[in-house]
Amino acid sequence: MKDHPGPGQSSPVTGPDRPGPHALIVGGGASGVLAAAHLLRRDPQARVTLVEPRDRIGLGLAYSTSDENHLLNVRAGNMSALADDPQHFLDWLAKAGHDATPDCFVRRRIYGEYLADLLSVWRGGHPARFRRAHGICTGLTEGPFGAVATFADGTAQLADHVILATGHTQPRPAEDTALQPAWDPLPRLPAEASVLILGTGLTMVDQVLSLLDAGFEGCIMAISRRGLLPRAHRPTTPLRLGPQDIPFGAPTRALCRWLRTLAQTAEGKGGTWRDAMDGVRPYVRRIWRSLPPVERARFLRHGQRWWDIHRHRMPPCSEARLRAAMTDGQLILLRGDVLRVDRSGTGIRAIYRPYGAGSTAALSAAVAIDARGLRGRPADSPLLAGLLHDGTARMDPLGIGLDIADDGSLIRADGTPSPHLSAIGPVSRAAFWEVTAIPDIRIQAAALAERIATVHRG
Ligand SMILES: Cc1cc2nc3c(=O)[nH]c(=O)nc-3n(C[C@H](O)[C@H](O)[C@H](O)COP(=O)(O)OP(=O)(O)OC[C@H]3O[C@@H](n4cnc5c(N)ncnc54)[C@H](O)[C@@H]3O)c2cc1C
Repeated sequence: MKDHPGPGQSSPVTGPDRPGPHALIVGGGASGVLAAAHLLRRDPQARVTLVEPRDRIGLGLAYSTSDENHLLNVRAGNMSALADDPQHFLDWLAKAGHDATPDCFVRRRIYGEYLADLLSVWRGGHPARFRRAHGICTGLTEGPFGAVATFADGTAQLADHVILATGHTQPRPAEDTALQPAWDPLPRLPAEASVLILGTGLTMVDQVLSLLDAGFEGCIMAISRRGLLPRAHRPTTPLRLGPQDIPFGAPTRALCRWLRTLAQTAEGKGGTWRDAMDGVRPYVRRIWRSLPPVERARFLRHGQRWWDIHRHRMPPCSEARLRAAMTDGQLILLRGDVLRVDRSGTGIRAIYRPYGAGSTAALSAAVAIDARGLRGRPADSPLLAGLLHDGTARMDPLGIGLDIADDGSLIRADGTPSPHLSAIGPVSRAAFWEVTAIPDIRIQAAALAERIATVHRG
């Protein structure tokens, strides 16, 4: 880990030498930066080390795009890093000279700049309370008073608390894959070529907008099992719901029925289903926690796609461009299961089973882009795989992610919560479900900061 003594230089293990908790955060994407900012604000004695291999912090996967077409899918007014200071992002935008209203959808690149700037106030000062370290964490070992993190360069560091903010794990693509990952830059394509996009969610929307903006005039085919598009944002007035209104613990089927009725209630009052979704949103985490594993599995099988297209909406301007491309016949939505994609000549050939059909069909294109979303598992991260292997962590009952306690603590293989290791953001998704968007992560960050500060004070 750069900025830190390596083995042989001095003691490879260093520890806090001043009062106040020292938190080491693994991962400097949005979640890591939010966790750091909340802890530094909450406890004036706290010190934070943020470990990230990328050159810049705050960007992670979502905000490292430089494509001006890639917009936030949440209104600027809801993207403050601090839930108790909803103006914070808007004020930053104004200071940075960007025109913005609370209802607009800002470029993701600009949001990355905001996050990168968030910790700058703590960078100076003597002694510095915030330190950014460049490196990859490869292991964590718990001790009685904290945890030791080891790094790819052989160094190690002791902290009172370690926060895992490693985000979206990505499966390493097979060497011979014919699929182009959606996060990689698009190759140059002849104007008349065809492009196949696997997936019809928000990542597909990004890809289509990038292609259109690059002047691509060929045919774009987007395919998913149901061919469902994310819905678009419209003005909403969230229903005012209290905990007593929520059927916690009801089976998935009953929950879906309840949500549909709620949407009808909203429409009956002159609103839209969005008012129901947004009213329920503050309770999603508790609803998910109240479901037994069998019901969570049922939701993933039958409800997830439906939930995602209503919950994760696209900006109206993106929707308008997409609809125009569909009307022109340039963008074609297909329903079907892609069975395989092979290289063929200078392009690709995909075999798929159209929805409801008994037989298969083929599609040819210059390139096939994998926009099926984030499909990684903890085992795809060497760090998380190691924690699972040595019992420092365990998988959740469904085997989709880490098992995490209500307060964010990692649950060990023996079922006990760790007092020194926590998780935040998408790495804790199996336990909380809706912890991928900033309005949810910032609440998690505030709660974690409160806990670390309180526990340390003793
Ligand atoms: C394309 C996309 C668009 C989105 N748009 C929005 C939006 O408009 N509004 C919204 O609210 N939410 C949005 N989200 C959701 C949300 O903001 C992200 O889920 C959020 O950025 C998650 O951040 P993260 O830091 O947890 O994960 P990541 O962005 O994945 O970052 C994790 C970081 O951890 C580092 N890391 C991993 N392992 C290690 C290790 N062993 N040692 C050191 N570092 C490590 C990685 O290098 C990476 O930088 C979007 C998500 C995506 C993917």
